[in-house]
Amino acid sequence: MEPKTVIIFIAVIIMFACSPNSRAGSGTAEQGSTLEIFNAVSGKVMTVERIVRTEKEWKALLSEEQYHILREQGTERAYTGKYHDHKKKGIYKCAACGTDVFSSESKYDSRSGWPSFWEPVSELNVGTQEDRSFFMIRTEVHCARCGSHLGHVFDDGPPPTGKRWCINSLSLDFVSTD
Ligand code: FE
Repeated sequence: MEPKTVIIFIAVIIMFACSPNSRAGSGTAEQGSTLEIFNAVSGKVMTVERIVRTEKEWKALLSEEQYHILREQGTERAYTGKYHDHKKKGIYKCAACGTDVFSSESKYDSRSGWPSFWEPVSELNVGTQEDRSFFMIRTEVHCARCGSHLGHVFDDGPPPTGKRWCINSLSLDFVSTD
């Protein structure tokens, strides 16, 4: 190959490596299919319909910055979100569909600039998937009910789980239980 061809070839590979992952499952979930999720207020597991929307519909429902995080797997800048230093008692819900995802009971200060939790309200309510974007191998976290991106989970969290669920404030809505 000529040097110019090699450069173009490498550029194309880099472009693909950097593009956000399209999550298997999101967009392919069938309208009307159901799943079980945990209701953090009642403490009960409920069967609910999956939320399936087109990207055009999500765009109409969400703010531009929320759309970027939730639907394009974006990340808000550290220390810019409304919940990284939020200490009230309550439930954090998926900002796209309202599913309970985290509780103040497992929130801690990770000093990362993002809201951090040592566990979700239930493993039923969130999904994870390997994310190889930006030349890193990370574990992406999304809402189990609507597939929207919430953040990433790392292995450097505190006891009892050792996990750091590092979530974008823009992916969350807080509801007080006080
Ligand atoms: Fe959701």
